[in-house]
Amino acid sequence: MTGTPDPGARRIWVLIEQDAGQAHPVSWELLGAARRLASALDGAAIRVEAVLLGHGVRPIAEDAFRYGASRVYLMDAPVLAIYRNLPYAVGVSRLVQTYEPEILLIGATTRGRDLASAIATRLETGLTADCTELAIDPKLGILAATRPTFGGNLMATILCRKHRPQMATVRPRVLPMPMPMPLADASGEILPVEPGLSEADIPVRRLRLIPAEERLNLEHAPVIVAGGRGLGGPDGLPLLGRLADLLGGVVAVSRPLVDAGWISADHQVGQTGKTVRPRLYIAAGISGAVQHRVGMGDADFILAINRDPEAPIFRIADLGIVGDLYEVIPELIRQLQAMRDGAGHAR
Ligand code: FAD
Repeated sequence: MTGTPDPGARRIWVLIEQDAGQAHPVSWELLGAARRLASALDGAAIRVEAVLLGHGVRPIAEDAFRYGASRVYLMDAPVLAIYRNLPYAVGVSRLVQTYEPEILLIGATTRGRDLASAIATRLETGLTADCTELAIDPKLGILAATRPTFGGNLMATILCRKHRPQMATVRPRVLPMPMPMPLADASGEILPVEPGLSEADIPVRRLRLIPAEERLNLEHAPVIVAGGRGLGGPDGLPLLGRLADLLGGVVAVSRPLVDAGWISADHQVGQTGKTVRPRLYIAAGISGAVQHRVGMGDADFILAINRDPEAPIFRIADLGIVGDLYEVIPELIRQLQAMRDGAGHAR
Protein backbone atom coordinates (compact mmCIF):
# COMPACT_ATOMS: atom_id res chain seq x y z
CA MET A 1 0.00 0.00 0.00
CA THR A 2 1.34 3.43 -0.92
CA GLY A 3 0.50 6.81 0.58
CA THR A 4 1.57 8.54 3.73
CA PRO A 5 -0.40 7.65 6.80
CA ASP A 6 -0.79 10.66 9.02
CA PRO A 7 -1.45 8.99 12.35
CA GLY A 8 -3.33 10.90 14.97
CA ALA A 9 -5.70 12.62 12.54
CA ARG A 10 -9.36 12.02 13.33
CA ARG A 11 -11.47 11.03 10.37
CA ILE A 12 -14.99 10.21 9.27
CA TRP A 13 -15.05 8.16 6.09
CA VAL A 14 -17.69 7.71 3.47
CA LEU A 15 -17.43 4.92 0.94
CA ILE A 16 -18.30 6.30 -2.48
CA GLU A 17 -20.32 3.71 -4.35
CA GLN A 18 -19.90 3.80 -8.10
CA ASP A 19 -21.02 1.70 -10.99
CA ALA A 20 -19.41 2.05 -14.41
CA GLY A 21 -18.00 5.43 -13.43
CA GLN A 22 -21.30 6.81 -12.08
CA ALA A 23 -21.44 7.61 -8.38
CA HIS A 24 -24.52 6.47 -6.52
CA PRO A 25 -26.30 9.57 -5.08
CA VAL A 26 -26.43 7.97 -1.62
CA SER A 27 -22.69 8.67 -1.45
CA TRP A 28 -23.38 12.41 -1.56
CA GLU A 29 -26.15 12.10 1.02
CA LEU A 30 -23.67 10.35 3.29
CA LEU A 31 -21.00 13.00 2.77
CA GLY A 32 -23.60 15.56 3.89
CA ALA A 33 -24.31 13.42 6.97
CA ALA A 34 -20.58 13.03 7.65
CA ARG A 35 -20.12 16.79 7.58
CA ARG A 36 -22.92 17.24 10.10
CA LEU A 37 -21.40 14.56 12.35
CA ALA A 38 -17.98 16.19 12.08
CA SER A 39 -19.30 19.57 13.15
CA ALA A 40 -21.19 17.95 16.03
CA LEU A 41 -18.00 16.17 17.08
CA ASP A 42 -15.25 18.67 16.88
CA GLY A 43 -15.65 20.99 13.93
CA ALA A 44 -12.47 21.48 11.97
CA ALA A 45 -10.48 18.91 13.95
CA ILE A 46 -12.33 16.04 12.26
CA ARG A 47 -11.66 15.31 8.63
CA VAL A 48 -14.41 14.17 6.33
CA GLU A 49 -12.83 11.90 3.76
CA ALA A 50 -13.96 9.53 1.04
CA VAL A 51 -12.87 6.12 -0.16
CA LEU A 52 -13.29 5.32 -3.84
CA LEU A 53 -12.61 1.99 -5.51
CA GLY A 54 -12.92 1.10 -9.19
CA HIS A 55 -11.10 1.49 -12.46
CA GLY A 56 -10.99 4.77 -14.37
CA VAL A 57 -13.01 6.46 -11.63
CA ARG A 58 -10.76 9.43 -10.82
CA PRO A 59 -13.32 12.03 -12.05
CA ILE A 60 -15.67 10.91 -9.27
CA ALA A 61 -13.06 12.04 -6.73
CA GLU A 62 -13.54 15.62 -7.96
CA ASP A 63 -17.28 15.28 -7.27
CA ALA A 64 -16.53 13.98 -3.78
CA PHE A 65 -14.65 17.22 -3.05
CA ARG A 66 -17.68 19.20 -4.17
CA TYR A 67 -19.82 17.30 -1.65
CA GLY A 68 -17.43 17.95 1.20
CA ALA A 69 -14.62 15.38 1.23
CA SER A 70 -11.20 16.90 1.91
CA ARG A 71 -9.32 13.81 0.77
CA VAL A 72 -10.17 10.85 -1.42
CA TYR A 73 -8.35 7.53 -1.00
CA LEU A 74 -8.38 6.27 -4.56
CA MET A 75 -7.89 2.59 -5.33
CA ASP A 76 -7.98 2.55 -9.09
CA ALA A 77 -7.02 -0.75 -10.70
CA PRO A 78 -8.29 -3.20 -13.37
CA VAL A 79 -8.94 -5.78 -10.66
CA LEU A 80 -11.57 -3.38 -9.23
CA ALA A 81 -13.25 -2.60 -12.56
CA ILE A 82 -16.39 -4.51 -11.60
CA TYR A 83 -17.73 -4.87 -8.10
CA ARG A 84 -16.79 -8.10 -6.39
CA ASN A 85 -16.99 -8.53 -2.67
CA LEU A 86 -13.51 -9.89 -1.99
CA PRO A 87 -11.23 -7.27 -3.55
CA TYR A 88 -13.45 -4.40 -2.41
CA ALA A 89 -13.72 -5.72 1.16
CA VAL A 90 -9.99 -6.43 1.36
CA GLY A 91 -9.16 -3.02 -0.14
CA VAL A 92 -11.33 -1.00 2.23
CA SER A 93 -10.32 -3.08 5.27
CA ARG A 94 -6.63 -2.51 4.60
CA LEU A 95 -7.21 1.20 4.23
CA VAL A 96 -9.11 1.29 7.51
CA GLN A 97 -6.33 -0.58 9.29
CA THR A 98 -3.80 1.93 8.01
CA TYR A 99 -5.66 5.20 8.55
CA GLU A 100 -7.99 4.21 11.42
CA PRO A 101 -11.08 6.32 10.74
CA GLU A 102 -13.43 6.66 13.68
CA ILE A 103 -16.57 6.28 11.60
CA LEU A 104 -17.21 4.54 8.27
CA LEU A 105 -20.50 5.22 6.46
CA ILE A 106 -21.75 3.11 3.55
CA GLY A 107 -24.95 3.29 1.51
CA ALA A 108 -27.39 0.48 2.30
CA THR A 109 -27.76 -0.39 -1.37
CA THR A 110 -27.60 -4.01 -2.53
CA ARG A 111 -23.89 -3.62 -3.04
CA GLY A 112 -23.29 -1.56 0.10
CA ARG A 113 -25.04 -4.13 2.28
CA ASP A 114 -22.96 -6.90 0.77
CA LEU A 115 -19.76 -4.98 1.28
CA ALA A 116 -20.41 -3.42 4.71
CA SER A 117 -21.03 -6.75 6.39
CA ALA A 118 -17.86 -8.24 4.87
CA ILE A 119 -15.76 -5.25 5.99
CA ALA A 120 -17.22 -5.29 9.52
CA THR A 121 -16.47 -9.02 9.79
CA ARG A 122 -12.89 -8.57 8.61
CA LEU A 123 -12.31 -5.69 11.01
CA GLU A 124 -14.19 -7.36 13.89
CA THR A 125 -16.21 -4.26 14.56
CA GLY A 126 -19.90 -3.50 14.92
CA LEU A 127 -22.18 -2.50 12.05
CA THR A 128 -25.53 -0.77 12.47
CA ALA A 129 -27.41 -1.50 9.27
CA ASP A 130 -30.24 0.46 7.64
CA CYS A 131 -30.01 3.50 9.88
CA THR A 132 -32.62 6.22 9.63
CA GLU A 133 -30.72 8.79 11.66
CA LEU A 134 -27.09 9.46 12.51
CA ALA A 135 -26.02 11.72 15.36
CA ILE A 136 -23.27 12.15 17.90
CA ASP A 137 -24.04 11.06 21.45
CA PRO A 138 -23.47 14.29 23.40
CA LYS A 139 -22.08 12.56 26.50
CA LEU A 140 -19.84 9.96 24.92
CA GLY A 141 -18.91 11.80 21.73
CA ILE A 142 -19.42 8.69 19.63
CA LEU A 143 -21.78 7.77 16.81
CA ALA A 144 -25.41 7.27 17.82
CA ALA A 145 -26.95 5.29 14.98
CA THR A 146 -30.73 4.95 15.01
CA ARG A 147 -32.63 2.26 13.15
CA PRO A 148 -36.08 0.63 13.30
CA THR A 149 -36.41 -2.60 15.24
CA PHE A 150 -39.16 -5.06 16.24
CA GLY A 151 -40.84 -4.88 12.87
CA GLY A 152 -40.56 -1.11 12.70
CA ASN A 153 -42.54 -0.59 15.90
CA LEU A 154 -39.58 0.74 17.89
CA MET A 155 -36.55 2.83 17.08
CA ALA A 156 -33.26 1.70 18.62
CA THR A 157 -30.20 3.92 18.97
CA ILE A 158 -27.07 1.83 18.85
CA LEU A 159 -23.61 2.79 20.12
CA CYS A 160 -20.40 0.99 19.26
CA ARG A 161 -18.32 1.71 22.36
CA LYS A 162 -15.34 -0.59 22.13
CA HIS A 163 -14.52 -1.28 18.50
CA ARG A 164 -13.44 0.91 15.62
CA PRO A 165 -14.42 2.04 13.15
CA GLN A 166 -18.03 2.65 14.08
CA MET A 167 -19.82 1.44 10.97
CA ALA A 168 -23.29 2.31 9.74
CA THR A 169 -25.23 1.84 6.54
CA VAL A 170 -28.02 4.16 5.45
CA ARG A 171 -30.53 3.51 2.72
CA PRO A 172 -30.80 5.99 -0.15
CA ARG A 173 -33.18 8.87 0.55
CA VAL A 174 -33.82 7.87 4.14
CA LEU A 175 -32.03 10.69 5.92
CA PRO A 176 -34.47 13.50 6.66
CA MET A 177 -32.10 16.19 5.38
CA PRO A 178 -32.24 17.20 1.73
CA MET A 179 -29.50 16.13 -0.64
CA PRO A 180 -26.58 18.53 -0.03
CA MET A 181 -25.85 21.00 -2.80
CA PRO A 182 -22.47 20.51 -4.46
CA LEU A 183 -20.02 23.37 -4.09
CA ALA A 184 -19.13 24.89 -7.44
CA ASP A 185 -15.52 25.33 -6.56
CA ALA A 186 -13.94 22.77 -4.27
CA SER A 187 -10.72 20.86 -4.26
CA GLY A 188 -8.95 18.31 -2.13
CA GLU A 189 -6.22 15.75 -2.05
CA ILE A 190 -6.34 12.50 -3.99
CA LEU A 191 -4.29 9.79 -2.34
CA PRO A 192 -3.70 6.89 -4.75
CA VAL A 193 -3.51 3.52 -3.00
CA GLU A 194 -2.61 0.12 -4.46
CA PRO A 195 -5.20 -2.60 -3.89
CA GLY A 196 -2.49 -5.20 -3.24
CA LEU A 197 -4.47 -7.92 -5.02
CA SER A 198 -4.29 -9.43 -8.47
CA GLU A 199 -6.90 -11.22 -10.58
CA ALA A 200 -5.39 -14.56 -9.54
CA ASP A 201 -6.38 -13.86 -5.92
CA ILE A 202 -10.09 -13.54 -6.75
CA PRO A 203 -12.21 -16.66 -7.18
CA VAL A 204 -15.27 -14.84 -8.61
CA ARG A 205 -15.75 -14.04 -12.33
CA ARG A 206 -18.55 -12.03 -13.90
CA LEU A 207 -20.44 -14.06 -16.50
CA ARG A 208 -23.16 -11.61 -17.53
CA LEU A 209 -24.09 -7.99 -16.88
CA ILE A 210 -27.76 -7.06 -16.72
CA PRO A 211 -28.06 -3.81 -18.74
CA ALA A 212 -29.05 -0.66 -16.86
CA GLU A 213 -32.35 -0.34 -18.73
CA GLU A 214 -33.39 -3.74 -17.38
CA ARG A 215 -32.67 -2.64 -13.83
CA LEU A 216 -35.20 -0.94 -11.67
CA ASN A 217 -34.50 2.38 -9.97
CA LEU A 218 -37.40 2.55 -7.52
CA GLU A 219 -35.67 4.91 -5.12
CA HIS A 220 -35.57 7.76 -7.61
CA ALA A 221 -38.77 7.08 -9.57
CA PRO A 222 -41.06 10.16 -9.59
CA VAL A 223 -44.22 8.02 -9.85
CA ILE A 224 -44.78 4.56 -8.37
CA VAL A 225 -47.81 2.35 -8.94
CA ALA A 226 -47.68 -0.27 -6.21
CA GLY A 227 -49.80 -3.38 -5.87
CA GLY A 228 -50.48 -5.60 -2.90
CA ARG A 229 -52.11 -8.90 -2.09
CA GLY A 230 -55.39 -7.35 -3.22
CA LEU A 231 -54.23 -8.00 -6.79
CA GLY A 232 -55.16 -11.62 -6.16
CA GLY A 233 -52.50 -13.01 -8.45
CA PRO A 234 -49.62 -12.13 -10.78
CA ASP A 235 -52.03 -11.56 -13.68
CA GLY A 236 -52.92 -8.19 -12.16
CA LEU A 237 -49.38 -6.83 -12.50
CA PRO A 238 -49.62 -5.84 -16.21
CA LEU A 239 -52.60 -3.63 -15.29
CA LEU A 240 -50.37 -1.73 -12.83
CA GLY A 241 -47.72 -1.56 -15.55
CA ARG A 242 -50.16 0.10 -17.98
CA LEU A 243 -51.06 2.78 -15.42
CA ALA A 244 -47.39 3.28 -14.55
CA ASP A 245 -46.50 3.70 -18.23
CA LEU A 246 -49.17 6.35 -18.70
CA LEU A 247 -47.86 8.27 -15.68
CA GLY A 248 -44.18 7.85 -16.53
CA GLY A 249 -43.67 5.67 -13.47
CA VAL A 250 -42.65 2.20 -12.39
CA VAL A 251 -44.34 -0.74 -10.69
CA ALA A 252 -43.65 -1.69 -7.08
CA VAL A 253 -45.21 -4.21 -4.72
CA SER A 254 -45.72 -5.16 -1.10
CA ARG A 255 -43.77 -8.08 0.28
CA PRO A 256 -46.31 -10.92 -0.04
CA LEU A 257 -46.08 -10.64 -3.83
CA VAL A 258 -42.33 -11.14 -3.72
CA ASP A 259 -42.69 -13.99 -1.23
CA ALA A 260 -45.20 -15.63 -3.57
CA GLY A 261 -42.73 -15.39 -6.44
CA TRP A 262 -44.98 -13.15 -8.57
CA ILE A 263 -42.25 -10.55 -9.10
CA SER A 264 -38.57 -10.01 -8.26
CA ALA A 265 -37.46 -8.63 -4.89
CA ASP A 266 -36.09 -5.39 -6.36
CA HIS A 267 -39.74 -4.24 -6.71
CA GLN A 268 -40.47 -4.51 -2.99
CA VAL A 269 -41.13 -1.39 -0.94
CA GLY A 270 -40.88 -1.41 2.83
CA GLN A 271 -38.80 -2.33 5.80
CA THR A 272 -37.08 -5.24 4.10
CA GLY A 273 -37.44 -3.69 0.65
CA LYS A 274 -36.72 -0.23 -0.66
CA THR A 275 -37.45 3.20 0.75
CA VAL A 276 -39.01 5.52 -1.81
CA ARG A 277 -40.03 9.17 -1.93
CA PRO A 278 -41.84 9.64 -5.23
CA ARG A 279 -44.02 12.62 -6.05
CA LEU A 280 -46.96 10.22 -6.46
CA TYR A 281 -47.39 6.79 -4.85
CA ILE A 282 -50.45 4.79 -5.84
CA ALA A 283 -51.11 1.94 -3.40
CA ALA A 284 -53.60 -0.51 -4.89
CA GLY A 285 -54.79 -3.48 -2.84
CA ILE A 286 -52.27 -2.73 -0.10
CA SER A 287 -53.55 -2.73 3.48
CA GLY A 288 -50.85 -0.37 4.81
CA ALA A 289 -48.98 -2.52 7.33
CA VAL A 290 -46.31 -0.60 9.24
CA GLN A 291 -43.57 -2.58 7.49
CA HIS A 292 -44.86 -1.29 4.16
CA ARG A 293 -45.51 2.27 5.35
CA VAL A 294 -41.95 2.80 6.57
CA GLY A 295 -40.84 2.44 2.96
CA MET A 296 -43.31 4.84 1.32
CA GLY A 297 -44.83 7.09 4.00
CA ASP A 298 -42.69 10.05 2.88
CA ALA A 299 -44.08 10.11 -0.66
CA ASP A 300 -45.28 13.61 -1.61
CA PHE A 301 -48.78 12.39 -2.51
CA ILE A 302 -50.33 9.01 -1.69
CA LEU A 303 -53.37 7.70 -3.55
CA ALA A 304 -54.81 4.57 -1.95
CA ILE A 305 -57.22 2.23 -3.69
CA ASN A 306 -58.74 -0.40 -1.43
CA ARG A 307 -62.14 -1.99 -1.15
CA ASP A 308 -61.95 -1.97 2.66
CA PRO A 309 -62.81 1.54 3.93
CA GLU A 310 -61.10 0.67 7.25
CA ALA A 311 -57.76 -0.25 5.64
CA PRO A 312 -54.90 1.49 7.55
CA ILE A 313 -53.45 2.81 4.29
CA PHE A 314 -56.27 5.36 4.17
CA ARG A 315 -54.90 6.94 7.37
CA ILE A 316 -51.79 8.12 5.57
CA ALA A 317 -53.30 8.62 2.12
CA ASP A 318 -53.79 12.10 0.69
CA LEU A 319 -56.59 10.73 -1.46
CA GLY A 320 -58.46 7.47 -1.01
CA ILE A 321 -60.71 5.59 -3.37
CA VAL A 322 -62.81 2.87 -1.75
CA GLY A 323 -63.40 0.33 -4.46
CA ASP A 324 -62.22 -2.69 -6.36
CA LEU A 325 -58.87 -1.99 -7.97
CA TYR A 326 -59.96 -3.98 -11.01
CA GLU A 327 -62.67 -1.38 -11.58
CA VAL A 328 -60.81 1.74 -10.39
CA ILE A 329 -57.52 1.27 -12.26
CA PRO A 330 -59.05 0.55 -15.69
CA GLU A 331 -61.17 3.68 -15.22
CA LEU A 332 -58.08 5.73 -14.28
CA ILE A 333 -56.31 4.37 -17.36
CA ARG A 334 -59.32 5.19 -19.55
CA GLN A 335 -59.52 8.76 -18.28
CA LEU A 336 -55.78 9.36 -18.52
CA GLN A 337 -55.77 7.97 -22.04
CA ALA A 338 -58.72 10.19 -22.97
CA MET A 339 -56.91 13.24 -21.54
CA ARG A 340 -53.82 12.33 -23.48
CA ASP A 341 -55.73 11.75 -26.71
CA GLY A 342 -57.62 15.01 -26.18
CA ALA A 343 -54.36 16.88 -25.70
CA GLY A 344 -53.05 15.26 -28.88
CA HIS A 345 -56.10 16.39 -30.88
CA ALA A 346 -55.90 19.92 -29.51
CA ARG A 347 -52.37 20.34 -30.87
P1 FAD B 1 -52.69 -7.51 2.91
O1 FAD B 1 -52.33 -7.00 4.24
O2 FAD B 1 -53.26 -8.88 2.81
O3 FAD B 1 -53.70 -6.45 2.29
C1 FAD B 1 -54.38 -6.63 1.09
C2 FAD B 1 -55.33 -5.45 0.93
O4 FAD B 1 -55.93 -5.52 -0.33
C3 FAD B 1 -56.45 -5.45 1.97
O5 FAD B 1 -56.47 -4.18 2.62
C4 FAD B 1 -57.71 -5.66 1.13
O6 FAD B 1 -58.83 -4.92 1.63
C5 FAD B 1 -57.30 -5.13 -0.21
N1 FAD B 1 -57.98 -5.73 -1.36
C6 FAD B 1 -58.23 -7.05 -1.59
N2 FAD B 1 -58.78 -7.20 -2.81
C7 FAD B 1 -58.90 -5.94 -3.34
C8 FAD B 1 -59.38 -5.46 -4.57
N3 FAD B 1 -59.86 -6.27 -5.55
N4 FAD B 1 -59.38 -4.11 -4.79
C9 FAD B 1 -58.90 -3.25 -3.84
N5 FAD B 1 -58.41 -3.68 -2.66
C10 FAD B 1 -58.40 -5.02 -2.42
N6 FAD B 1 -44.36 -5.81 3.83
C11 FAD B 1 -44.02 -4.99 2.84
O7 FAD B 1 -44.87 -4.58 2.02
N7 FAD B 1 -42.71 -4.59 2.69
C12 FAD B 1 -41.74 -4.97 3.53
O8 FAD B 1 -40.57 -4.61 3.34
C13 FAD B 1 -42.08 -5.84 4.61
N8 FAD B 1 -41.14 -6.23 5.50
C14 FAD B 1 -41.52 -7.00 6.56
C15 FAD B 1 -40.58 -7.33 7.54
C16 FAD B 1 -40.95 -8.07 8.63
C17 FAD B 1 -39.91 -8.39 9.66
C18 FAD B 1 -42.27 -8.53 8.75
C19 FAD B 1 -42.69 -9.34 9.95
C20 FAD B 1 -43.21 -8.23 7.80
C21 FAD B 1 -42.86 -7.46 6.68
N9 FAD B 1 -43.78 -7.12 5.70
C22 FAD B 1 -43.42 -6.26 4.72
C23 FAD B 1 -45.14 -7.70 5.67
C24 FAD B 1 -46.19 -6.80 6.25
O9 FAD B 1 -46.28 -7.03 7.64
C25 FAD B 1 -47.58 -7.09 5.63
O10 FAD B 1 -47.88 -8.45 5.82
C26 FAD B 1 -47.65 -6.78 4.15
O11 FAD B 1 -47.19 -5.47 3.89
C27 FAD B 1 -49.09 -6.90 3.67
O12 FAD B 1 -49.11 -6.75 2.27
P2 FAD B 1 -50.45 -6.30 1.56
O13 FAD B 1 -50.89 -5.01 2.09
O14 FAD B 1 -50.19 -6.41 0.10
O15 FAD B 1 -51.45 -7.48 1.93
